[in-house]
Amino acid sequence: MVSADPRRVSIAGAGPTGSLLAFGLAQLGFQVILQDPQRVEELIARSRAYALTHSSRRLLNELGLWDALGSDLIPFRSLDLQDRELKARVVFTPDDLAGGNRLVPAIGWILDHRPLMELLLDRLASHPSVQLQLGAAPAPHTPEGRFDLAIACDGPGSPHRGFWKLPFWSWTYQQGCLTFKVRLRNPQAQTAYELFRCEGPFAVLPLGHNAFQIVWSAPLECCRERAALSPDQLLKELFGVLPEGLELEAFLDQPRAFPLQLSLAPRLARGGLLLVGESGHRCHPVGGQGLNLCWRDVAELLRLLKHPASSRLSGSAIGRRYARSRLPDLILVGLATDLLVRLFSNRNPLLLLLRRLGLSSMGRFGVLRQLSLAAMTDGPLAWRR
Ligand SMILES: Cc1cc2nc3c(=O)[nH]c(=O)nc-3n(C[C@H](O)[C@H](O)[C@H](O)COP(=O)(O)OP(=O)(O)OC[C@H]3O[C@@H](n4cnc5c(N)ncnc54)[C@H](O)[C@@H]3O)c2cc1C
Repeated sequence: MVSADPRRVSIAGAGPTGSLLAFGLAQLGFQVILQDPQRVEELIARSRAYALTHSSRRLLNELGLWDALGSDLIPFRSLDLQDRELKARVVFTPDDLAGGNRLVPAIGWILDHRPLMELLLDRLASHPSVQLQLGAAPAPHTPEGRFDLAIACDGPGSPHRGFWKLPFWSWTYQQGCLTFKVRLRNPQAQTAYELFRCEGPFAVLPLGHNAFQIVWSAPLECCRERAALSPDQLLKELFGVLPEGLELEAFLDQPRAFPLQLSLAPRLARGGLLLVGESGHRCHPVGGQGLNLCWRDVAELLRLLKHPASSRLSGSAIGRRYARSRLPDLILVGLATDLLVRLFSNRNPLLLLLRRLGLSSMGRFGVLRQLSLAAMTDGPLAWRR
């Protein structure tokens, strides 16, 4: 049985998952300790932009953070999905949204890491129920710790997952991913692009003021070589890859290459020790699912803990319920992104035929666009809501 309120929670990892969870738990009345070896300046410095879906919008809204992010949320009102081999395309618009999502006419939003982390860390620093311990390597939490729940949000390499002896399945893609920001000439400011190319998906995400984030998947070695090219050489490589009509004006940061994995911790909890965010799972960035999945973990845990009966539950019972409700979404999204990458990153004639059929049906039948957009924006189990 847990101790009397206020309940105490420790969170290891103050990335976008740990920081949002810490804020949500503090709002529910928990005493939260949030630890990270990185200092504030390091935590906000990452050059990355996230594609947020409606599931993330709802969570930020519930926590009162959506309006505060204001103009840092760059909406995209169309998603241009192109198969470059077949020269086929499907364009998703807000008309393809389902249910309550239609009331907010955007397919998704691009949010830069910096304003997100500045807001979260600012709110956490001034919250009376949060103790921030940043900039020093924390000692790992033991099962016998002083907390009702100990939560690892310490990213894909999670030291806590190893320390708590939670199993982890991980499969490394041959594809890696090159990310960088660019400024484009006369772009369609409210369109995001996902191009399926034989070497891997290529995404162009609007950041506002003609700036865009490029997420370019290709064999890892190729990504590393491209990251080492001079701007002029990289410009040549980009020629013919960017969607038609988009022209590069300038590079805005240094390109960086990352390996990609499909990973899952089949047990997300042991007793009151929980894995949340990328400490528990990781998938290919196609479709920009990563952070949205992490935040659906956060939303589910907050939903469980908000329930009045949760104060009578032990940490183990909460861990079991959390794991049970999150695993189906994590498995399905992992499989769906993997299938997409396999289906589109090759020139097999049978698969080309399947792709042609799939894309032309999606172009013709609104219901298919609605179903796929609902799965992308709220997860494959969206129909249950
Ligand atoms: C190239 C690339 C592009 C991506 N694009 C998108 C996108 O468009 N949309 C999207 O939604 N997602 C995207 N993602 C995924 C997204 O970046 C991750 O989902 C997100 O960063 C996960 O957040 P997290 O807080 O779980 O983990 P992380 O961001 O990895 O944070 C983990 C934190 O834990 C800390 N830590 C490490 N060890 C310890 C320890 N022992 N104790 C305490 N703290 C510790 C670290 O310092 C770090 O601050 C992308 C990922 C990559 C690699």
